[in-house]
Amino acid sequence: MEKYIGIICAMDEEVVHYIDELSEGRTQTIAGSVFHTGRIRGKRVVIVKSGAGKVNAGACAQLMMASFPLSAVIMTGVAGGLNPALNTHDLVISKDSLQHDIDAKELGYERGRVPFSDLKHFAADPRLRAAARKAADKHKLKAIEGRMLSGDRFVSGAKEAEAIRKEFEGDCVDMESAAVAQVCTINKVPHLLIRSISDKADESASKDFAAMLKTAAKNSHLLVSETIAMLDLQPDLTHAAAIKSLIRTVPDWPKKGVQFRDITTLLKDPAGFRRTIDVLADRYAEGNLRPDIIVGIDARGFILGAALADRLGIGFVPIRKKGKLPAKTQSEEYELEYGKDRIEIHVDAIKPGDRVLIVDDLIATGGTALAACKLVERLGGKVIECCFVVDLPALGGKKKLLAGGYKAYHIVDFEGD
Ligand code: AMP
Repeated sequence: MEKYIGIICAMDEEVVHYIDELSEGRTQTIAGSVFHTGRIRGKRVVIVKSGAGKVNAGACAQLMMASFPLSAVIMTGVAGGLNPALNTHDLVISKDSLQHDIDAKELGYERGRVPFSDLKHFAADPRLRAAARKAADKHKLKAIEGRMLSGDRFVSGAKEAEAIRKEFEGDCVDMESAAVAQVCTINKVPHLLIRSISDKADESASKDFAAMLKTAAKNSHLLVSETIAMLDLQPDLTHAAAIKSLIRTVPDWPKKGVQFRDITTLLKDPAGFRRTIDVLADRYAEGNLRPDIIVGIDARGFILGAALADRLGIGFVPIRKKGKLPAKTQSEEYELEYGKDRIEIHVDAIKPGDRVLIVDDLIATGGTALAACKLVERLGGKVIECCFVVDLPALGGKKKLLAGGYKAYHIVDFEGD
């Protein structure tokens, strides 16, 4: 099942833009909060108005996480500008955030640190940040990446604004962002904060805030919407990071210069293996990607493909290296990243018209997967997609498959590191 991108705004004037943009919209009320689900720019989203202040924002974020499977959370709205370079309607994309009003100095903790913990700066997710940066640049929006300060106080004095700017090196100030960021950090949900400047947090802040709220909120909506459009949430952010961390790299194997991405370390980890099959089963269990049969490629494709077939309640067919299959076969020769090989399939393994999902652990040059597609098609099967745990984009295999008219999916990629 596709996860949701959570969007949290503090106020009606902010949330209204996302609700307007929603397609296939539905609402449900949970513990007094109204959650709107549907799609924005093709991505599945859940939207909620938290109300103002850190408690409202934090509680609402936790409720969202407990109620919906989330791939990411974006908190957005307007803010007071602290960085003198920022004018009204400029945008801030969070590098990180902190609570400027937490003060347990008497207990030996510096201001901003949650006492008895190491919680202080809440870093935004780098992939979400990169998507927002790209979106801002594409639409020539004036946006800086910076630090957001949050506190349960509407800052409306130049002196106070300057003091917190200096002390915490903050770029803007609001009353919710860092609370949402803290909840996301604790729950290990990637987050990003995007705010548009409505005032300068000085003596005219309350007047400017009221005058600018609507237009500034519109501006932050524009960037959030474009960021969502840019996001490549395939694969899911949290699962991908967890799965990648369990894959071992063996340098110079089976020959010098090859970085071998070894999934045996992933398979022996029960949570990691289960998670991998969960991600694939979510994608292929229902709808137009559900296959009739899975074809796994020798040898690690057997392990993943068989586990997935069992989970989906469908059959499994092996494609083997030459000379291993006992009955009548079709075969195809192909180039490997490190040599040449031939693969074979039993001629009676696929029925004409079968919807086939091809599974392997990794795609490198794409030679093996392409040969597997040809074998399946020669037997009358229809390849609905090829899926891999790992893609090595530098070797161009996935591009080759797409160019050949096939669909391809992967969970993690390695860029040659
Ligand atoms: P290719 O045909 O180049 O896409 O190669 C993919 C097949 O070779 C898969 O079955 C992989 O298991 C294996 N393979 C190729 N390169 C690597 C690598 N760097 N690390 C791990 N497996 C690889």
